[in-house]
Amino acid sequence: MPFRATILTLYPEMFPGHLGHSLAGKAMERGQWSLETVQTRDFAEDKHRTVDDTPAGGGAGMVLKPDILAKAIDSVASDTRPRLLMSPRGKPLTQERVRELAEAEGVVIVCGRFEGVDQRVIDARQLEEVSIGDYILSGGEPAALTLLDAVVRILPGVMGNVHSGTHESFETGLLEHPHYTRPQVFEGREIPAVLTSGNHAAIDKWRHEQALALTRERRPDLLPAKPQPVTK
Ligand code: SAH
Repeated sequence: MPFRATILTLYPEMFPGHLGHSLAGKAMERGQWSLETVQTRDFAEDKHRTVDDTPAGGGAGMVLKPDILAKAIDSVASDTRPRLLMSPRGKPLTQERVRELAEAEGVVIVCGRFEGVDQRVIDARQLEEVSIGDYILSGGEPAALTLLDAVVRILPGVMGNVHSGTHESFETGLLEHPHYTRPQVFEGREIPAVLTSGNHAAIDKWRHEQALALTRERRPDLLPAKPQPVTK
């Protein structure tokens, strides 16, 4: 069964967005994955089709109502797909989680808006809160598109070259080594000689050293903690 994504949103026209283009778009055309949207507002029952209300306890903004959202979720999520809520309070998304999600049958993704979502529907429908980083977006839609982009590109058969991906940043626990391509000299800067030497062992070694140095400099948090010297 191809990977199936269902997005609950007030802005279905934002989908598939960039995922309708390039590799993801072609994979969708080939039927390797599919995306459907559910307009949350369709589950509002009053004349004005209200989906939000003022926060209990006061304060700025509006909160998505739990009853409407629950009905929208129940209309799709009768299967065993993971149910995610895009949320800056969620667990930060990692390549490891992306990999797990790519192995699932698909995902159901709830996009928040305004100040967020009533806590009771998060609890009652056991939504897994996922963050794409420590900053605040105006809505969950670009976050959902980002998550799906990361997942879809590693689905079987989506990326043209099966080898791409295995050396990438995070897959090895390190940031990736730098890349070069022709011309041999660009504005007086040459391609490092080892890369044109034809010596594959030397190239692998150089790339690994570069990856290690780059990670040490930019993202020391990715490196395994150094064993602490024994103090007497
Ligand atoms: N008041 C909230 C922010 C609401 S932003 C707070 O301070 O936590 C509105 C919606 O955008 C959220 O409900 C969520 O769905 C989405 N969103 C914003 N930033 C996000 C992030 N970093 N990762 C994932 N979703 C995000």
